[in-house]
Order: sequence, then structure tokens, then C-alpha cells
Amino acid sequence: MAARRAIVVGSGPNGLAAAITLAEAGLDVVVHEAAGTIGGGMRTEELTLPGFRHDVCSAIHPLGRAAFDRGVEWLESPAALAHPFDDEEAVLLHRSVDETAATLGRDADAYRGLVRARWYGLEPWQLLRAFGVRGSLRAVSSAERVAQRVFATDRGRAFFAGTAAHSMLSLRTRPSAGFGLVLLTLGHVVGWPFPRGGSQAIADALAAELRELGGEIVTSSPVDELPRADVVLCDTSPRELARIAHLPDYARSYRYGPGAFKLDWALSGPIPWRDERCAQAATVHLGCTYDEIARSEHVPGTVPPFVLLAQPSLWDDSRAPTGKHTAWAYCHVPHASAVDMTDAIEAQVERFAPGFRELVLARSARGPHELEAHNRNLVGGDLNGGLMDLRQLYTRPVARLVPYRTPRKGVYICSASTPPGGGVHGMCGVAAAKVALSDLR
Ligand SMILES: Cc1cc2nc3c(=O)[nH]c(=O)nc-3n(C[C@H](O)[C@H](O)[C@H](O)COP(=O)(O)OP(=O)(O)OC[C@H]3O[C@@H](n4cnc5c(N)ncnc54)[C@H](O)[C@@H]3O)c2cc1C
Repeated sequence: MAARRAIVVGSGPNGLAAAITLAEAGLDVVVHEAAGTIGGGMRTEELTLPGFRHDVCSAIHPLGRAAFDRGVEWLESPAALAHPFDDEEAVLLHRSVDETAATLGRDADAYRGLVRARWYGLEPWQLLRAFGVRGSLRAVSSAERVAQRVFATDRGRAFFAGTAAHSMLSLRTRPSAGFGLVLLTLGHVVGWPFPRGGSQAIADALAAELRELGGEIVTSSPVDELPRADVVLCDTSPRELARIAHLPDYARSYRYGPGAFKLDWALSGPIPWRDERCAQAATVHLGCTYDEIARSEHVPGTVPPFVLLAQPSLWDDSRAPTGKHTAWAYCHVPHASAVDMTDAIEAQVERFAPGFRELVLARSARGPHELEAHNRNLVGGDLNGGLMDLRQLYTRPVARLVPYRTPRKGVYICSASTPPGGGVHGMCGVAAAKVALSDLR
């Protein structure tokens, strides 16, 4: 296959993973990236002040940890996640199931039953198989159902709800429970790590691997017409693919999900958590009760919002000048919403960390429109590349046995809008590249 030429449109984790898979098979690969820098959702930039490096999109990588090992220095906080309350101690997600269960009080045994010890030592891609029949039924359920059936306390239900909210689905919608189960299990199997230097380090490591294999990456190179090559893989939204391939009917009924409103702060010191246990975790979920989180996810944009916060600079001194810190946070908002959630998010942080606002040296605020302007794959601010409900989990972006193929021969879609969906893991890219290679043979 040495003479075959492949073009990959987009340098997100899926584009780069696809490019590496094609280059390993002997193809000549060129990646075209619209932005001035590589990485898509793995970019790290000085969004606020000089010397403060912020992850523009992804920050925490339970999925990426398993997929990308070469050239990345992975860091872990003592606890993966803290879930604080107004008047009780925070629940902490530790590597150890027992240590985690110990922070859940009366729900300790329920938690042990939910994340069974036989999952230890498994690779993440074996997770679904490892759920077994009962676990798989739970995984395709709504978070509301699992929270009510499994946990006796609001403490347990709220903790579970926070992890399920990563689905960007209403907690009443299936399979929101599955997102919680997978993330909790990964917390025990690989942790919730983050790369030293920010997500950009993953992009740079993948780019280095591709170049070692002879591949090339061209930045500031937006593709507006399908290029000519033996295979073309598009790490793009289906909407963008329809535009550049002149396929107006392609994936027309594909549904995008809610958007995100994101804040990044340059801080003069660490966040002054009222519950000091929150300083043990790189990720903090700010939503307190089950009802509060459920309301916020059912009607994105509700105040107070459920806030997902990351504070990697506590363990990574490359993120900010000495003694200073960065923090990253977002909440879910309606698709393409123009509502400014800055005050609502900061009030939620202040609720659990009085005095937080006094530490803010500068902030960057990005709603759905700014996120989409930064990366055209974030349609309406949807960070999963399309709704991940049961109907679109595997039939994304079209209901075909092999959804990576498109109506154009030799043209494939490989972004998070294909199975298995959003997150920095590269699995969509690898799967699409394998289909393209088998079609070439
Ligand atoms: C605010 C936010 C927080 C997130 N947090 C996390 C997290 O903590 N952990 C996690 O795992 N995931 C997280 N994600 C999700 C993750 O970033 C995405 O799911 C992932 O990046 C998708 O990868 P991709 O390769 O499909 O597309 P992307 O990473 O979006 O990359 C697509 C690339 O293609 C380029 N492109 C598109 N069209 C064209 C064109 N016509 N020509 C040339 N180039 C083009 C774009 O410029 C972009 O660089 C987050 C996302 C956001 C927005």
C-alpha cells in the first residue's frame, strides 16, 4: 500500500489516531487542520494572562489515559473527584473502591455492589463486557432509575448524579446511568488523570508519533472542498462533511445536544474550599443535591447550574507562574444558547469556596458561539459531537451497519459524531481508519 495517499481533515484526537493507524499501514498521510494549532479539543492556550496555560476544551482524561501512553507524563491527584455539600463532608472518588465507599456513609455497601471488585485490572475497552448482564442493564438505564434503586441517601444519589451528568442528557434519559458507571469504574481502574502541561501534551505526542511514521500535518488549512486521495477521513461534524462533500441530505436527521458555557480563571492562589477535602481532587462537582443536579441537567441553563470544575495546577506547576493557579469550569446550557452564565458559575464556586472571587486575576468566558468559533466541530457548543442518547449511541451519525462510510466512495467520517462518541480517546478515528483500510484491500 506504500503508494496509497490518505488525507485526514482535522487534527483532533480522532483525526490524529486515524492518521497514525493509516500511516502504520504504510499509507502516505497528510492531515489538514483549519486552526493555526493542532489538537482540536486537546489544545492548551494562554487564554487569560501570560504564563497561565488553560485547557481550552478537554482537561481530565480517564479515557485518554488508556488510549494514549507514549510521550505523555500523566499526573493524578490523591482523589480523582470531590463532591462537596453545603453541610456535610465531601464524597471522594479514590482508586480504591473501599476508600470511596467509606466516604459514602450509609451507602457504602450499595456503592461496593455498584462497582464490583472484579472490574479491577480490566482494560477500559473491556468495561462494557465486564458489566455482566445486571450491570449492562443498569448501564443502559437512566441515572434517575439507578440512583433511586441503588442508593438510600441523597449523598449517594447526588454523587452518582454528578458523574452521570457528563452524558449531557437529562438524568431521566437512557443511558445516562452508563456514563456514570463507566466514569466511576475508570476512576478505580485507571484514575482520572491529566497530562503535565495540559491536553496539548497529548496532541503533541500524537503528532510526534505520526511524523515518526512519515505523516505530515498542515495547520491553518481549512478544507472547503473534498480533496483527491485514495482515502479521505473527516474528523469533522456531519454538518461540515455535508458541506465540503456537497451532500446536502447527509445525516440530515442527526441531532446535536445541549451546549457548554465555559470559564477559565487565572487565580492569585489555590481555591479556598470550605471543605479542605476538595483540595485533594483535580475534579470537583458542584451541584450538592440529587434534585439540584437533576434540575440543572433536565433544563440546561437552570440556575444554580451543576458545575464541573478542574484545578490541575495544584499538581502541575507548568500551568501558572509560581504561587499562582488556573481553574477550568463549565456548565451545560441549551444548544447554541447566548445566555451568559459567568455570574451563575462563579456564585456556585463561591458557595463552596467563600472568598474565591477575590482570587480572580483574569477570566476567559466562552459560550456555545465562542466554542464553535474556536472549533467548528462544537456545533451549538455540543462537546460530544451530537446527542448521546440510546438512539444515537451506535447509529451516529447515520443508521448504517458501518456508520463510518459515507455516500462518497473512499470518504469516511471519523469524529466524535461516530461510535463510540465524545471524549478524548481516539477510538472513533481508529475504527474508521480500519474500515477504510479494509475497503482498500
Ligand atoms: C469545554 C469542553 C470540555 C471538555 N472536557 C473533556 C474532558 O475533560 N475529557 C474528555 O475526554 N473530553 C472532553 N471534551 C470532549 C473532547 O474534547 C471531544 O469529544 C474530542 O476532542 C472530540 O475529538 P474529535 O477528534 O472528534 O474532534 P475535535 O477534537 O473537535 O477536533 C476536530 C478538528 O477538526 C478541525 N476541522 C473541522 N472541520 C475542518 C475542516 N473543514 N478543515 C480542516 N479542519 C477542520 C477542527 O478545527 C478541529 O481541530 C470536552 C470538550 C469541550 C468543548
